[in-house]
Amino acid sequence: MKITDLYIDKEVLDYPATNVICDRLNTSFQVVNNAEDVYGIFANVKTPVEKGKKTLFLTKNKGKFIRQCPGTDYYTCCNYMILHFGIFCTMDCSYCILQSYFHPPLLQFFVNHKDLEKSLDHLFLQKKLTRIGTGEYTDSLIWEEIYPFAEMLVSKFSRQSHAILELKTKTVNIENLLSLRHNRKTVVSWSLNTERVVKSEERQTASIKARLTAAVKCQEMGYPLAFHFDPLIIYPGCEEDYKKIIKQLFANILPENIVWISLGSFRFMPALKSIIEQRFDQSKIVYGEFIKGIDGKMRYFKPLRINFYRQIVSYIREIAPNVTVYFCMEDDEVWLKTLGFTPSEYGGLPMMLDKSASRHCDVF
Ligand code: SF4
Repeated sequence: MKITDLYIDKEVLDYPATNVICDRLNTSFQVVNNAEDVYGIFANVKTPVEKGKKTLFLTKNKGKFIRQCPGTDYYTCCNYMILHFGIFCTMDCSYCILQSYFHPPLLQFFVNHKDLEKSLDHLFLQKKLTRIGTGEYTDSLIWEEIYPFAEMLVSKFSRQSHAILELKTKTVNIENLLSLRHNRKTVVSWSLNTERVVKSEERQTASIKARLTAAVKCQEMGYPLAFHFDPLIIYPGCEEDYKKIIKQLFANILPENIVWISLGSFRFMPALKSIIEQRFDQSKIVYGEFIKGIDGKMRYFKPLRINFYRQIVSYIREIAPNVTVYFCMEDDEVWLKTLGFTPSEYGGLPMMLDKSASRHCDVF
């Protein structure tokens, strides 16, 4: 983390997490009355995304810590829950939706951890199988450099029996996790892509080799694992490149340790196109054959997606016929034509994933 500007909400100045972060960053900071004071700084900034990746605001989450993942009715959704502990990312992927999602886009870390713990205690009391992740509005593990947040979560989840925490990352910041007693309540997951996509579209992320090496270490420590091929990007020769990564994955990781693999083709809100063109002038990813979906996002034409998914699924099935594979935000036709079934045949996608979680993690 290279933080050049640190702002602290006056309400959280004396919070324990604030002190830890100030010690670790060892930099000067400015105390502000509220978020508006920080947002105002971005008003005339020409490159807000660049500035936002170096600007950190420590504040409270004044809303809900636990939220439903914002799916849509039109595509099959997995009923995932989000643990909203921080915002934005220090890595820099061209396709990252967060560039256009937050106004302004800046790093925010919520330090009112007592409130967060209360929300989790309430969730645990419901004794209902829940899949909850921290990697939707940020990367789950970038924050480990300044605060051992995952460590706190893994320990907390280890002491209950119904909820699964998923830590999703493109980093290799797993050192804090290795010595923890996790009781198989935490799934550590990595987003994977081809070497070409990582090189051209994912700045500052760990290499695929490094991600898999980290995954192997977590595997050795008994963590259940997951992998996300999302976004899958179509380009000449991509099939062979994805085949190579899938082979590399299974050369390192045993299929029985994988809770799920998700597949999602590249999709974007139209507003992201100009940001990608401006910030990643070498990137070609927005110039494919796209059509606007019912949710307003641009997606590859359906026949293209189906064809592509079929190939990816066949590469996975060749090596790991029983691993749970699912699609993020696709409809029944795509499921049927690529996997040969629709989630409803298995009680729905949430049920499918819950069952896989029960098989691989110590939850019931
Ligand atoms: S790692 Fe994830 S959150 Fe971070 S920039 Fe890339 S897509 Fe966005």
